[in-house]
Amino acid sequence: MSAQKPEWLRVRAPSGETYVKVKNLLRGLQLHTVCEEAQCPNSAECWGGGTATIMILGDVCTRGCRFCAVKSGDPRGIFDPDEPQKVAAALSNLDIKYAVLTSVDRDDLQDGGAGHYAKTISAIKETSPGIIIEALIPDFSADEKALSKVVEAGPDVIGHNIETVERLTPNVRDRRSTYRQSLSVLKAVKRMNPNIYTKSSIMLGLGEAEEEVLRSFSDLREAGVDMLTIGQYLRPSEWHLPVSAFVPPEKFERYRELAQEHGFLYTASGPLVRSSYRAGEFFIEALTRRKREMMADVR
Ligand code: SF4
Repeated sequence: MSAQKPEWLRVRAPSGETYVKVKNLLRGLQLHTVCEEAQCPNSAECWGGGTATIMILGDVCTRGCRFCAVKSGDPRGIFDPDEPQKVAAALSNLDIKYAVLTSVDRDDLQDGGAGHYAKTISAIKETSPGIIIEALIPDFSADEKALSKVVEAGPDVIGHNIETVERLTPNVRDRRSTYRQSLSVLKAVKRMNPNIYTKSSIMLGLGEAEEEVLRSFSDLREAGVDMLTIGQYLRPSEWHLPVSAFVPPEKFERYRELAQEHGFLYTASGPLVRSSYRAGEFFIEALTRRKREMMADVR
């Protein structure tokens, strides 16, 4: 298949005042963003809109998924203990309503980094109580004691990506990242706190069949997942998995409709959509605010 990207995948280079402001502020605080690490095509739009997905726990992952541009290696238990305060400080200087925290996998840490997530969420809540927080977490090797630390910190949304359909998972994701394990993590969050929204994400263009995608919709709904994003896989380098198809926008629209029929509260679906794509944030923000108002009325 020619590697030439179709016109619907061509985006302008990131630019603009807010984009530069966000970039410099985060650089100044030695903070990483997935936007830069994963070469996300949306950073112009997201940053232009005053939001960024902040990566905590460093930029070296202990796993090696064949679709991911993040560096793999051994971080030797090292991370910045001041990061929670730095992230909170950065966000309090950015006019944002919705913050996404994410990280590489840290199998080198006893709790996989869950405690650090909890500290960062608490620090943000202290300095910017109005910000809606999404924690886009690794699977913590399905360690529920670790997972409960994040749940108890009380983010509004917890995301964990299944990335692809069950059949392709062993070839696409690191062998320690299994489809069933990811579903069990999402299900455990809902069991621990049903008031937290859960979210997942699937990439298309890796050789999946439509019925397999629909089966993953059912599996996610069975695990109680509320929101879904669906985007096009893009090959970061010659080392990574080849793209088996550039899926046209109308096919994404069809999947969006089918996902809604499966009962998701929100589905963002499009060639350029990524886990924490802005549009979804707007919708989730609306949902979360409505829920806060309802909870405030009950009190
Ligand atoms: S675990 Fe996450 S960050 Fe690490 S290689 Fe896989 S997708 Fe990338």
